[in-house]
Amino acid sequence: MSLVIVGSVAFDTIRTPWGDREKIVGGSGTYCSLAASYFTRPRIVGVVGRDFPRKTLALLKSRGVDLEGLKVMAGKTFHWEGKYEEDPNRRTTLRTELNVFADFRPEIPARYRGSRIVYLANLNPEHHDYVLGQFRKPALVAMDTIRLWIDTKRDALLKELGRVDIFFANDEEARLITGETNLISAGKALVGLGPSLVLLKKGEHGALVFGRDFVFGVLAHPCEHVIDPTGAGDSFAGGFLGFLDKTSGLAGKDIRRAVVYGSVMASFAIEDFGIGRFLKLDRGLVEARFKQFRKLTTF
Ligand code: AMP
Repeated sequence: MSLVIVGSVAFDTIRTPWGDREKIVGGSGTYCSLAASYFTRPRIVGVVGRDFPRKTLALLKSRGVDLEGLKVMAGKTFHWEGKYEEDPNRRTTLRTELNVFADFRPEIPARYRGSRIVYLANLNPEHHDYVLGQFRKPALVAMDTIRLWIDTKRDALLKELGRVDIFFANDEEARLITGETNLISAGKALVGLGPSLVLLKKGEHGALVFGRDFVFGVLAHPCEHVIDPTGAGDSFAGGFLGFLDKTSGLAGKDIRRAVVYGSVMASFAIEDFGIGRFLKLDRGLVEARFKQFRKLTTF
C-alpha cells in the first residue's frame, strides 16, 4: 500500500458570487492527500513556507498523511487566487504567487522510492523526468494538468502523456489538448496519446472514463449548493487513487468503484470553502454517500 502525491500545498484566495475567503489553506497536494486519507495512508511531496499553519500540518498528520516529503522552507507559501462566476464551472485565475514553490525541485524521500502509485498533481511537465527518475518502478503513474501548462508547455505535456498510465482532465483541458469539441472524441483522442486510462471530469455532470476498449460514466452527486468548487478535481483524484491503492487491484470493477469514490470525495470538497468539509468528514459519511451514488444510478 503506497501512494505518493507530488503537488502544491498552498494558500488560496477564493472569490465567488456568494462569498470570498482570503488566504485559506488549499493546494492540489493538500486536497488530494486529504481525500485519499479516507482509504489509504498517502505520502505527500511538496513545499510550504514558514507562514504555513502548523495546525494544518497537524490535521494532515492526524488523518494519517505521511509528511516526510513535505519541506518547510524559509519564505512564503505558494498563493493562488481564483474567481468563480454564477456557473461554478467557470473559473478565472487572478493571481499566482509561486513563492517557495518557484524553486521547488521535488526530492523523493528514500522511504517513498519503492511506492506503487505516483500522482503528479498540476506539476510543470518539464519536471516530471526529475521526479519519476527517483522512483524504482511504480506500478501506476497518474497525472493531472492545468491550463497554464497546456498553453505554455504543450510539447512537454504531450511527451508526458505518452508515458503515464492515468490522466485526469476536465472538459476544457481535454478540448484544449486534443482540439476536439465533442467530449467522447476528445477522451478517445487522449487515450490515443498514451495513457491506458483517461478520466474526464465534467463538473456537475459527473465523469467519463476512457480505456483502450471501453467507456464508463458516473453522474455527479446532485448538489444544489456548490460553495467552493476549488479542489474538486484533486479530491476526485485522491478518492480514485486512494481507493485503488487500498484494493491493490486494477480490474474493471476496481476502476469503476474507484471512479465512484473519486466522485464521492469531489462532492464533499465543494460543500464548503477550502478544505473545510474534510474537517467534519468521517469514513461513515463517505460510505453513506457511496451508497447514495449506487441508488442514483441503479435502474
Ligand atoms: P482544482 O480545483 O482541483 O483544479 O485545484 C485547485 C488547486 O490548485 C488550488 O487549491 C490551487 O492552490 C492549486 N493551483 C492553482 N494553480 C496552481 C499551479 N500553477 N501549480 C500548482 N497548483 C496550483
